[in-house]
Parts: sequence; C-alpha cells; structure tokens
Amino acid sequence: MSKKLRDLSVSERLDTLKKKIGLSEEELDTLRNGILGEDLADNMIENVVGAIKIPIGIAENFKINGRDYIVPMAIEESSVVAGANFAAKLCRDTGGFKAEAEESIMIGQIYLKNCVPDAMPKVLASKRIIRELANPRDSTLVACGGGLKDVEVRNVGKYVCIHLLIDVKDAMGANFVNTTAEKVAPYIEEITGGKVVLRVLSNLSVYRKAKSKAVWKAKTLEESVGGSFTGKEVAEGIMCLWDIASLDPFRRATHNKGIMNGIDALMIATGNDWRAIESGVHTYSSIINSPVTTYKINSNGDLEGRIEIPLAVGIVGGATKINPVAQVNLKLLGVSNAKELACVAASVGLANNFAALRVLSTEGIQRGHMKLHAKNIAHMAGATGDKIEKIARVMIQENKITVSRAKELMNGSGNFYKI
Ligand code: NAD
Repeated sequence: MSKKLRDLSVSERLDTLKKKIGLSEEELDTLRNGILGEDLADNMIENVVGAIKIPIGIAENFKINGRDYIVPMAIEESSVVAGANFAAKLCRDTGGFKAEAEESIMIGQIYLKNCVPDAMPKVLASKRIIRELANPRDSTLVACGGGLKDVEVRNVGKYVCIHLLIDVKDAMGANFVNTTAEKVAPYIEEITGGKVVLRVLSNLSVYRKAKSKAVWKAKTLEESVGGSFTGKEVAEGIMCLWDIASLDPFRRATHNKGIMNGIDALMIATGNDWRAIESGVHTYSSIINSPVTTYKINSNGDLEGRIEIPLAVGIVGGATKINPVAQVNLKLLGVSNAKELACVAASVGLANNFAALRVLSTEGIQRGHMKLHAKNIAHMAGATGDKIEKIARVMIQENKITVSRAKELMNGSGNFYKI
C-alpha cells in the first residue's frame, strides 16, 4: 500500500483493500455495513432482537515469518489498532515477528469419582479402544487427520481425571471435543468402576500454544520517542515494567489485558470465541506465575520481546464460517490454517504489549490515548458531523480533552470555528 491507510477516508481504504485483496462488491458491502442478517442472527443464539456493530480497523504493518499481513481488528477501544500497527512498524527493520504454533491439540476432560484403585492404569491400557470409540470413520475431522491422539490420566483429590488429547486441526474444536468426551464416558465408567461427574473440554489448551518474538532496535526505540529518551532508556524502562508485572499480580492483570486487547480484536474480527482464548491465557499466566510476555536487552543493546500462550483458534467452525463479516476478515488476513492464525494472534498480542509498555515507560499512556479518544469525547458531548473532528482538534491543541470542554466548545466558547 503506497499511502498509509490512516491518511485515507473509509471509502478509499475499502478501495485499497479491494485492489490489493480482490474483494468483490458484495464482500466490501458486507465489511462496510457489518451485515449479519436477521435470520442468520436468529439461528446463532437465542431470543434474538438485533445485532451490535463494533468498528473494524486494519493493522497494515505486520510482517510475520517473512510475510506481510493485513490484520483486521474489531474493537471499540481507541488506540489498540494504532498501538499494534506502530509496534509492528518499529520491528520491520529487524525482520518483523518470528512465530510458530503447536498442533491443534485440545484437552477433553472426564472426571470420575468412586473409581476402583487401579482405575488409572486400566484407562491407560485401554487407549486403543478409547481411540476407536472416539474417532468415527465418517467424521470430517478424522478424515482430515484429526481426532483423538492420546489419553492422559491424573489424580485430582478424590477424583480420577482423564484427559482426551484431540487434534481438532483448523477448528477451535469445542464441539468435537465435547461430543467425544460424552461419547467415550460410558466406556470409561465401565473400565474404572467409577461414576462420571463431568465431561467437557478444558480451555487451558496447553498443548496448543503459539509463540512469537520480535526485536526492536535501540536506535528505533529512541527515534520512536522523538529523541526525548535514549534507546537504552526506553529499553530499560520496558524491562522495568516487565519486571514489575512479574512481581505483582495487580500489575500483571493489566499487562496481560493489554496483550488481550489486540488478540481479542483479531478473534472478534475472525468470528473466534475470544472468551475461550481469554480464559486460557489468563489461567496459563496464573499457573506459570508470570506475565505471558518476556523481554530482554540483547548484546547489541536492542530489545527482544517474546510471547508464548495457549491459542485455541479456528478458521472453520463456530461463527468463523457463519458470520459473513468474519469470512471477509479471514480473506483479508489470508491465513491458510488455524496454526497460521495462531501465529498472527500471538504476534498481535506481543505488539500490543510492546506498544503499551513503550508508552507507559516514556510519555505515559494518557496523552496518546486521549488524543485518539478525543473524537469519542466530542461525540459524547453531543457533537455531530464535522464538528466532532473540529472540537477534537481544539481539545488536542489545548491538551484539555474532557466532556465539559467539548460542551463549552459546542456552545461557542472556543475558537474552533476559526480553525
Ligand atoms: P463446529 O462444530 O462448528 O465445527 C467444527 C467442525 O468443522 C469439525 O468437527 C469438522 O466436522 C468440520 N471441519 C471441516 N474442515 C475442517 C478442518 N480442516 N479442520 C477441523 N474441522 C473441520 O465448531 P468447533 O470448532 O468444534 O466449536 C467451536 C464453537 O464451540 C465455538 O462457537 C465456541 O464458542 C463453542 N463452544 C465453546 C466452548 C468452550 O470454549 N468452553 C464450549 C462449547 C461450545
């Protein structure tokens, strides 16, 4: 893209995407209007009365494993798209993000009580039969190489817990996993002599992690703050904030929230179950007792960031195929399988985390955030049409971005008409 998307109008941006990706008029319309028909919505959930729109923004600077991506992000919070985009731009000169994802192995849990003493070895000795029961020959998933791969047993208090390790390929997989757990549960009861009390997937998909890393040069860090800090100071500031997140769960919650800002936005844009991803990432962070990103300053004085998280994402199944907007967004993104989507998601999470830490450790988060939020404030004060932009501009110039100031400007006590 020659001109940056931020310098274009919405129509020009859509036109750029149309030319670059080859979107049809219908797809453009779907994207622009957030089309989710009444019938479709009514089939998706219960008691439907409508659908809500969330803005979709594009991060255009992501280079991951040598490939450029157009990343659609659906989010109502200003500065998340800008933060991800900026972070991705700042590491392009070191090759962008290097990411990889594990196979799509999900865990289905079966909990039993009152089992015979040798229940656990009995289950392990019956793996082959459990696999045959779990993997029907007529299943689409099994036909493309997925299905039950292994079985684990754990003792959890007075319970025996069976983990079914299921490769769900390009799906998020909850339905296949839950169906499988319910299907094999009677046989597990039979061999353990116990009573099944729970049959459902775990959202802590520890065998389905994705990781990504990137390097931000000290010189780039310095330039990114207009020379008001040295690169060393920026890198050390980020290290310090990361250290605090490692020590303090109160800070870690917010550190991880910044990571999920970007990941959720991508998940929502692509029709993925972001609650599942959220619960997996936060639980993972609590069991490693650490933030899910790590940073170090390398021997060149550059900043190296890494992320590793469970990511149960899909490009088929759930709403990914049903929601037409998600389909267009997946086309924009151009990923060919779930592992590739996980690589992008991990990179976006790292980018948003870096962006937040960079600004927090230098000028503070509010200046940039409020600048991007100024138009929302003007809107809140009742401004409409081009007054929104004008009032926002005055508030930014005055460095006073508040609803009360926007109201004053609306009522004429200000010079925005002259601008
Ligand atoms: P799904 O059942 O809609 O679709 C997956 C199916 O797609 C597979 O079973 C397979 O038949 C088919 N398929 C075709 N090509 C495939 C390929 N290349 N790889 C894999 N499968 C392929 O969806 P799902 O992914 O099983 O379940 C996701 C949905 O379940 C989400 O909507 C989620 O919100 C919901 N859910 C989540 C939880 C939870 O997270 N705890 C619990 C229940 C349901």
